[in-house]
Amino acid sequence: MKKGTLGPKLKLSLPPPDEVSISKFLSESGTFKDGDLLVNGKGVRVVSQTEVETQSLIQPTDNQLSLADFDAIKVIGKGNGGIVRLVQHKWTGQFFALKVIQMNIDDSARKQIAQELKINQSAQCPYVVVCYQSFYDNGAISIILEYMDGGSLADFLKQVKTIPEPYLAAICKQVLKGLWYLHHEKHIIHRDLKPSNLLINHRGEVKITDFGVSAIMENTSGLANTFVGTYNYMSPERISGTRYGYRSDLWSLGLVLLECATGHFPYSPPQQEGWINVYELMETIVDEPSPSAPSEQFSPEFRSFISACVQKDPKERLSANELMTHPFISMFDDLDIDLASYFTDAGSPLATL
Ligand code: ATP
Ligand code: MG
Repeated sequence: MKKGTLGPKLKLSLPPPDEVSISKFLSESGTFKDGDLLVNGKGVRVVSQTEVETQSLIQPTDNQLSLADFDAIKVIGKGNGGIVRLVQHKWTGQFFALKVIQMNIDDSARKQIAQELKINQSAQCPYVVVCYQSFYDNGAISIILEYMDGGSLADFLKQVKTIPEPYLAAICKQVLKGLWYLHHEKHIIHRDLKPSNLLINHRGEVKITDFGVSAIMENTSGLANTFVGTYNYMSPERISGTRYGYRSDLWSLGLVLLECATGHFPYSPPQQEGWINVYELMETIVDEPSPSAPSEQFSPEFRSFISACVQKDPKERLSANELMTHPFISMFDDLDIDLASYFTDAGSPLATL
């Protein structure tokens, strides 16, 4: 056969495309998509490849994900409850964090947990980490989370040692927005706000994660003894077992900020060898005056902000909403603080591979 004749001849002899071969190019809304070409009821459009990709990315509302659709890339963190891995979705190439919490529990507890995780899944706000889906699989709970490529604030703090006030204000603004959303929109008390539950990315975003997880751990029948997290950031009213509410999260925020500013946890043990046991620390938090930011190193605004967070009486503590209008939050506004470069330049573990 002569070169050049195959193309046109072959095209003419092809059978009309059947539904099966076309369906792979059709989106749910009936748009025909092949490479840069989009055809729908409104006509034909040529779009850039990136636009096509964004359209087919997995959205938080898609809940058809299966664990088999992911390739494990590497372990990115370990907590008390389990292990966190970077995974990649096989079909879209998107990265996610897969958190696996081991728990061997009975059927009713499992149902309760599944129910509570649904609440997490429905949270949609730019300041909280998106939970795409959760599974109960082989005695473990697996949660597919938005991947935050800068790791946690705890990881970041290890590298930079301390965070200057202007950056802290920018970080704090985002955390307050996240807390406001959890408290006012979702009616969730986080209960475990700490540096490792604040995640950052190369876009300069700061998001709250693991909200509700500790509530599940505490409330689920038969799991009461599995709480092995830290008591460091727990408010006095929670430690002493009295009623606590949303404002106990603001206590934790105060301690987190103070730790980021000074480079060390705000309470220090009375003896050199460290805390004798966790009860000694808990007693100190309940009985001793709250910590404060040293006046010689920090602005009056920052000191006043911390003081508003770490009021021992929750009634005197400000809410997320009230703290949002505190002068500390806006005092560096005209500096145009660039958290994206700050997080990236500090060499946070940004690489996905
Ligand atoms: P604990 O078990 O007491 O809550 P933790 O918060 O450190 O401690 P995990 O929640 O299991 O434990 O997280 C472990 C680490 O994994 C975090 O410190 C963080 O570095 C990383 N990590 C968790 N979730 C993500 C995520 N969505 N994206 C990127 N890294 C994450
Ligand atoms: Mg965590």
